[in-house]
This record gives sequence, C-alpha cells and structure tokens, in this order.
Amino acid sequence: MFNRRDQKLYAEDVPLELIAAEVGTPCYVYSRAGIEQRWRAYDSAFADHPHHICYAVKANSNLSVLRLLAQLGSGFDIVSVGELERVLRAGGDAHSVVFSGVAKRADEMRRALTVGIRCFDVESLAELARLGAVAEELGVQAPVAIRVNPDVDAATHPYIATGLTEAKFGIAMNQALAAYMQAAGMPGISITGVASHIGSQILSMDPFLDAVGRLLELVGDLAAADIPVTHLDLGGGLGIRYRDELPPDINEYVSGLVEAVGQSGRRLSITLEPGRSIVGEAGVLLTRVEYLKSNARKNFAVVDAGMNDLLRPALYDAWQDIVSIRGGGGADARCYDVVGPVCETGDILGTERLLAIEQGDVLAVMGAGAYGWVMSSNYNSRPRPPEVLVDGDRYVVVRRRETIEELWGPESMPWSK
Ligand SMILES: *Cc1c(COP(=O)(O)O)cnc(C)c1O
Repeated sequence: MFNRRDQKLYAEDVPLELIAAEVGTPCYVYSRAGIEQRWRAYDSAFADHPHHICYAVKANSNLSVLRLLAQLGSGFDIVSVGELERVLRAGGDAHSVVFSGVAKRADEMRRALTVGIRCFDVESLAELARLGAVAEELGVQAPVAIRVNPDVDAATHPYIATGLTEAKFGIAMNQALAAYMQAAGMPGISITGVASHIGSQILSMDPFLDAVGRLLELVGDLAAADIPVTHLDLGGGLGIRYRDELPPDINEYVSGLVEAVGQSGRRLSITLEPGRSIVGEAGVLLTRVEYLKSNARKNFAVVDAGMNDLLRPALYDAWQDIVSIRGGGGADARCYDVVGPVCETGDILGTERLLAIEQGDVLAVMGAGAYGWVMSSNYNSRPRPPEVLVDGDRYVVVRRRETIEELWGPESMPWSK
C-alpha cells in the first residue's frame, strides 16, 4: 500500500514525489490494492456464513472508490439521496443498498423505494410512519430494519459514539418491541431485520459483542411475538491504527461476530457497514511546506493543506501521523506544529511532530482515506483538492482540483447590472 524505497515514500509502485510534482498539492492519494485487500478480508472472514458487506459511502464517496467496491460485489450503506445517486452512478446495485440516517426526507424515501433498495434502517416512530405512507402511496412495501440503540459504551470520541442513550440515533431498546409491533401492522412496511451502529473508531470487541447480545435478545422477543427477522445489521465502526491503537483485525472482528450470532442458534444473515476500516489506511493527504517559522515557544511548519482539506484533527482533535515523503531525519529533526493556511487557530494538522524538513518539502498525512476529502469544504475560498487513485505503477486523477471560478459558480449578484 504505502511503502519506503531508498527512504522515499511510495503508494504501491508510484513515488509520491511524482504525484506531488505532476498533480500538485494539496492532494489526496488512495491505494486501490489497499482498499480491495480490506474489503476482501471482510468477505473471506465470513466464510460461508450468509452476509452482506455494505460499505459506508460517507467514509469516502469518490466514484472510482465506489466502482471498484461495486466490482468486488460490495453493497453500500448510504445516509442521503446524494450518496444513493453516487452509488448508482458508479454502477452499484440498488438492491444492495441499506439506507441509514435520522432525518430521511420523503423525497429521499421515494427515490430509494423506486430503485428498490435492500433495506431502510429506521431510526424513529415518526420516520416509520412517514416511510409507511410513502410506500403505500407508491403501492409497494418498504423493507425495514429498526435501528435500535443498545446503550453500550463504545469508548470512543463523544462525537462518534452513537450507541448511548444520549445519542440522537436509533430507537431505545425498551421501546423497540412496541415499535416492531406497530410496524408489523403497517401495510406499507415489511420487516426484515434488526439494526444497530454503536459508533466509530472502536478498538475492542467488547462493545460489539455487548451490542450483539442485546440485539439477539430482541430477536428472541420478536420471534415470541410472531415477528420473524432474517438479518442482523451490526453497523460499522471497527477502528484503525492512526498511532499506536491496537484494534482487532478484520478477521478477528468478523469471526467474533459470526460466532456470537451462531451461538444463538438462530439462522440470521449478518450485514456489516464498514467505512473507515476499508478506506482509512489506504489514503494519504499530500501537502507542501510553504514556510518554516519559529517564535519563542514553537516551531511551525506552515503547509498548503488546512482544516478545510482535512477536518479530523481540528474537529475531533484526531491524531494522524505526518511524515516527510523524501525521508531523512535523525539528527536534523526538530519539533514542529504542522499548521495550515486557514485563518483559525484551530487550523492544525498535527502538533509536536519530530520532522527533518525544509521549505518546499512534501509531507504525507497518513490514514487520510476515510473522512478526509468527504469532509472538506471551500472555507477561506480554497478550491477542494484533487483525488488520485494508484493502481500498481499507474495513477489516475479520479477527481481534479476545483477551479477558482467553480467557487462562485452557483452564486448570483442580484443588484448588479
Ligand atoms: C458512519 C456509519 C458507518 C460507518 O462507520 P465506520 O466507523 O466508518 O465503519 C456505518 N453505519 C452507519 C449507520 C454510520 O452512520
């Protein structure tokens, strides 16, 4: 995926120096092999247990990434009609799509029902009522799993923990049975499963296994109430290594889930919605050092990528490794805060990094394949960066850099002549 040769950092067989020179910086670079290898790890870990891997589109929604996953046979987890249209545009199969999210609009439901998605993960009674009505209007039945909130502590950053009672997500466990009974009486609804998603960047099996246990109890209660379900959707959330984290590997994670479901003695297919763990480590953000400066307390490496290009460090105080792509170091290394051009003190990519660098050097921010480009913005009127996909010794620009004119393309000036 990313490797060093003569100290120089490569993406597969392409030197990142070449991409920085030809495409410019800032720029996202993804490894095709890295993405495919992780998707296959999920698929093979299931062995013959019936499963659906629905890649969480929000982690990285570039069409080329969606297409290569579609070609592997992946399904998709979406949270908006925009993501649905991306999946369809990329050649994804509508019947493989799971629709998550707390605020689905009627027009989004209509579109998803019309193309025939696999399942709606419903997050409230009000949503259930709206979905039932929209489906009836179209003369179809909406396939539904109710997303329950198992109230487990995923021990992750509060902004990405979704399985606690305080969170806006899902229906509380103690209201779930009543919600299913209501759904069972609705002509526009067809119940197919039970769903949950407890958070992101989760580093141990325990919260996942706790959640499975609670979901299986609910499945038992449903069976007793004559509401059979055929699938368990256990969401995404497996963490990756940004620094020294030790998440379970994909095989261990999947085997643990399969075993826990198997022990229940129920024949349930398993749906997973992994995002970060498929694309996160398969991407970097390249950024060039514009200036080095120091004050009495700190050395700064001022680079050409900012919080508008990569938001995670500013938003979650997330730590991502930052390395020089030409290598070197040792004795000449100094401690830098790596900061961007945006006019915000929080515009930081990383603090206190030991780097041997000069003005003009290119740095790689590692682990930038998930929640990187997709969270970028035009803040400070900065065109969003290009995305490059590397495949062996070739690379393709799969999204070009935005132009300055595109910044104001949708705007108008009503008072001008
Ligand atoms: C964000 C999200 C995912 C993906 O989470 P990762 O941590 O990237 O694996 C899956 N399902 C739902 C419902 C989500 O909101």
